[in-house]
Amino acid sequence: MVTIMMKAVRGSLVLSLRERSRWSCGHCISGWMGRAASVRDYHTTPTGRAASVRDDHSAPTHYDIVVSGGGMVGFAMACSLGHSKMLSDRRILLLEGAADKTWSLPEEFSNRVCALNSHTHRLFHKLGVWEHIQHRRAQPVKRMQVWESCSEAMITFDAQDQEDLVAHIVENDVILHSIKEVVPQHIEVEYNAKVEGYKLPTDLSSKVMISLQDGRTLSTDLLIGADGAKSLVRQTMGVQYIGWDYDQMGIVATLQLSEPVENTVAWQRFLPTGPVALLPLSEDRSSLVWSTTKVKAKNLLKLSDEDFTDALNKAIWDNSSGDEMVQIIHEKWLKLLDIFLPTSGADIRQLPPSVSGVVPSTRGAFPLGLGHAVHYVRPRVALIGDAAHRVHPLAGQGVNLGFGDVSCLIDTLEKAVLLGADIGEERILHEYESERQKHNVMMMASIEGLYRLYNTRVTPVVLLRSLGLSAVNVITPLKRQIMDRARG
Ligand SMILES: Cc1cc2nc3c(=O)[nH]c(=O)nc-3n(C[C@H](O)[C@H](O)[C@H](O)COP(=O)(O)OP(=O)(O)OC[C@H]3O[C@@H](n4cnc5c(N)ncnc54)[C@H](O)[C@@H]3O)c2cc1C
Repeated sequence: MVTIMMKAVRGSLVLSLRERSRWSCGHCISGWMGRAASVRDYHTTPTGRAASVRDDHSAPTHYDIVVSGGGMVGFAMACSLGHSKMLSDRRILLLEGAADKTWSLPEEFSNRVCALNSHTHRLFHKLGVWEHIQHRRAQPVKRMQVWESCSEAMITFDAQDQEDLVAHIVENDVILHSIKEVVPQHIEVEYNAKVEGYKLPTDLSSKVMISLQDGRTLSTDLLIGADGAKSLVRQTMGVQYIGWDYDQMGIVATLQLSEPVENTVAWQRFLPTGPVALLPLSEDRSSLVWSTTKVKAKNLLKLSDEDFTDALNKAIWDNSSGDEMVQIIHEKWLKLLDIFLPTSGADIRQLPPSVSGVVPSTRGAFPLGLGHAVHYVRPRVALIGDAAHRVHPLAGQGVNLGFGDVSCLIDTLEKAVLLGADIGEERILHEYESERQKHNVMMMASIEGLYRLYNTRVTPVVLLRSLGLSAVNVITPLKRQIMDRARG
């Protein structure tokens, strides 16, 4: 027992020394102190009005847990915390910098959608979010077909049954508002609550201090940073962030199909300038995510809707960039595969739907980048969602990784409660970090590998990737493994 206590004391000493040195050389604490001198500290009076704590010396309002950032991942976190029986006695607050806009389901589809994987589907079922999504709209994906423009190689992924779909395509607004509807009453949510700064503790002896733009100060035992790719929480933690911008934009739009079809297939074609994906929304609508160079994106956005549709159909159908030698070798390879690995024919090529137009005013573009925080946790702080990692949308994994973080962090916090530990203890939070980094880093590496593999038209690379892709397409157990990994 004594040995355990000594180890614990030594551990926290080492930790606090390590943390102190980080603070003393980092820019964050000085940033905070500089700000603290100029920002007035406020707390909320019972009437809800802000009062200066300098005048009455009262303590800042305290919460057990504060989630900073009310995007899809932040709200899913708040919702999961609210549904946890083990955390039901905790005072929990979600802070969102933007205003709370009234929203009802528009007739036309939004241009921002996500492909939700099975893990997210299960999480949403558990929280009661899924019935609200289904009540609105979600399109099941029964098959995915991926092919490229430099050769005839392709791969398909099929759903095993109704319960085991490839994904669901859901609009971001539908996801967000469906989560909001099941956030339990005891979770406090503040909109227009932009955080201006954080003061993070070096050990468990003090709390996280949060300074809001309206002048108030809050304190918390655990800060969960869900404030997106430019996360202020992450910047204040001072953790190393490895990342870069692709020289690419993701063009999004809602597409009109030429005729009604079952539309349950997600299509993705790799072009040397980036992948173009058509995600099913309904019988006559699909959602476009077209990743391309910044220069090309700028030109595509300037086109009329008609010319844009022509350019898109060309990107999907044009075969003129195929390499003749690659085609000949690839055809022979397919024949060989057919002899040694004959298939049922279920993996045959289908033709994508033809696009007849773009729904007016639905075209938009987003910069694409990759980023990963080397650490997700510090004493009393944890990062989730895009605040911790950002990926290229080519595999439709971004927000799914964030929802995976939510499930894992909840498990970790519940375990801490069971053990009678402080929920802000770094040792406990480390379990969340290592569990998630194992998954997230591997997924990010796979996405980056795919991006690089298809970002070239050098003949030997095109040949090797084409032979490889066609082989994987007929090796069912390998395909199944890839599918299981992508579905979370
Ligand atoms: C073109 C494109 C297509 C995509 N397709 C897919 C897909 O198919 N599948 C998929 O899984 N992912 C996809 N993604 C990725 C997905 O959109 C993101 O991973 C997801 O939106 C991240 O959610 P988040 O809640 O972590 O962050 P965000 O959505 O960025 O939310 C952060 C929130 O924090 C708030 N905030 C920020 N700073 C402060 C502050 N100081 N104080 C208070 N509040 C603050 C913001 O207002 C915001 O509401 C795609 C992305 C792009 C660009």
